[in-house]
Amino acid sequence: MNPLLIDPALRSGCENIPELKDVLASAAQSQRSPIDDVLDAGLVDEERYMRELAHDLDLEWLVSIPLPDEPMPLREACGPSVALKHRLLPVEITGEDGEQRLKLATFDPFNLIARQAAAQELELPVDWCMVSRKRLYEALRRLYGVGADTFEKILEGRDFDYDAIDVGEDEANIIDQDEDEEASVVKFVNQIIREALDQRATDIHVEPLATNLQIRYRIDGRLIEIAVPENIKALQSSVIARLKIMAHLDIAERRVPQDGRINLQFEGQTIDVRVATVPTVEGESVSLRLLNQEKFNLAKLQLEPFVQKKIESLLELSNGIILITGPTGSGKSTSLYSFLSEVNHPERRIVTVEDPVENKLSGVMQIAVKSEIGLTFANALRSILRADPNIVMIGEIRDLETAEIAIRASLTGHLVFSTLHTNDAMGGISRLVDMGVEPFLVSAAVRAFLAQRLVRRLCPHCKSPREISDQDKSDLGIPLDLPGEAFNATGCDRCRGTGFSGRLAIYEVVLITSAMQELVAHSAPSSKIREQAFRDGYVPMRSYGWHKAMQGVTTIEEVLSATSSDFDGT
Ligand SMILES: [Zn+2]
Repeated sequence: MNPLLIDPALRSGCENIPELKDVLASAAQSQRSPIDDVLDAGLVDEERYMRELAHDLDLEWLVSIPLPDEPMPLREACGPSVALKHRLLPVEITGEDGEQRLKLATFDPFNLIARQAAAQELELPVDWCMVSRKRLYEALRRLYGVGADTFEKILEGRDFDYDAIDVGEDEANIIDQDEDEEASVVKFVNQIIREALDQRATDIHVEPLATNLQIRYRIDGRLIEIAVPENIKALQSSVIARLKIMAHLDIAERRVPQDGRINLQFEGQTIDVRVATVPTVEGESVSLRLLNQEKFNLAKLQLEPFVQKKIESLLELSNGIILITGPTGSGKSTSLYSFLSEVNHPERRIVTVEDPVENKLSGVMQIAVKSEIGLTFANALRSILRADPNIVMIGEIRDLETAEIAIRASLTGHLVFSTLHTNDAMGGISRLVDMGVEPFLVSAAVRAFLAQRLVRRLCPHCKSPREISDQDKSDLGIPLDLPGEAFNATGCDRCRGTGFSGRLAIYEVVLITSAMQELVAHSAPSSKIREQAFRDGYVPMRSYGWHKAMQGVTTIEEVLSATSSDFDGT
């Protein structure tokens, strides 16, 4: 056995050398280069192992790979077909004119085929260096754009065959990596979608501009333009036609907006995609919303214990309304789905009315509102109440009619979950009254108002501790006795330099206790209601946020900005 591959593992803290030896032996037997197998087996810490290996081989180790200001010369020195096929990254062109050399990074110095390809197909002589596989993949995507190898082959190939974008129904929407070497728009589009799923994007926007076709992903609520191959504009109409075919839209109709759906198969999972086209002056733009079939549960919300306890007791109720408030994009659906998953037992019948159904829950009857055919929240609700549910979830209460049916349902022994478009928990009370609901009905039916906002989660790989004085804490309103440490966002390769990765909801809960019922029924002034809430254990959302900030889960700034609109100093 080659000690070259084992010594670095020993030094980087690998705990299972016998298994590592097995992996190496089987790679040797099938004459594969062993590095992929070693990394895939998860036996070593990729970063440390590869750094040790580079050291032993006396190759330069790259800690980070900045995108050059002028990427074109690098792309020309090593075209996407060599780079992406052999997983080699051009890093820098060194030397004077006529004596130039190319610094080329690999994660697998034992891959002889790749080294041969570099020697034969690249014009410049090569100086090798090493980088981790993860970082190399990321840098390749940045330098060449998603699907660049496929794209290049399409352009090299024959005149574009329009029929090739329309594959059979069955195979159409399976987008797992195929070994198929043939380049096609189908494959190119699949690469764009697959990349979006890998990056946990919630939306993909394909937007024709005058000189380019722009592709953007929405990740953690923010739009990010992704690198696409040069000259992608040449394929604009084919890419858009392919997406429309996948969504069963009329590809000949380009003047009016169309809506459709795609059911994608990806790594054995079904992913529901809502597709909308909009005609623009530069051509049709296509938006895809990826409705992940996410698994929901209460634990994932990472509730602070004082809120967790309240929610658990609410979920045990057999009737009443639990309302979640917050603006669009504050994560209300995730909370609703998590609550429903918690109460989803075989002996209970759960029915939802949603617009649209964002995620499917097994064992739950879900109805999508279709107002164009008269299936409104109110109509759908009326009919499902006849179908004897125990628990009802209403996507949103927007009008008096829906509010009244929800109240009736709760008073006749149903537990009802819904959302309201208001800023804070206490605002929910006045919102219902403003809609025209009698205050005594609000007090009789509603059990709790929850409000929530999303804050960005700090990237665990690069967050840095932050000194914060007692004076600053008092100024901000952070209790001095709150344990923990605050952190700042920094930014690294793994979080696209943003310092954040994913999001987390912060909450506040107002329970409608019997004392509170009294006040609500008699339309007490909001100051009285607020005082009572505090007596009932209300903790404002900003205070909830401080717990998360002092646990190093998010930053102080995130909490401040998420709670600025409704903060009144208490
Ligand atoms: Zn980071």
